[in-house]
Amino acid sequence: MPIYEFHCKACDEQYEVLVRSSTVVTCPKCGSQDAERLVSRIAPHGKIPEMRRKMRAMAAAGGDTSNFSKKEHATFKS
Ligand SMILES: [Zn+2]
Repeated sequence: MPIYEFHCKACDEQYEVLVRSSTVVTCPKCGSQDAERLVSRIAPHGKIPEMRRKMRAMAAAGGDTSNFSKKEHATFKS
């Protein structure tokens, strides 16, 4: 099953969800279901590099997710 990354519109939290066809996405932080899916890619389960976590943390801290996505793309292309 694919794992997708979501962005909560209510509290700005980013989280990953294992999505089934009938899954209703709920934010683990605030419980809101008003979320948007980020990049349509499948996260390799158990193979998420530590670097990606750091970049995500940095992006979250800076509130600049668009810049983060570009960097992440470059990382995964290599
Ligand atoms: Zn939330």
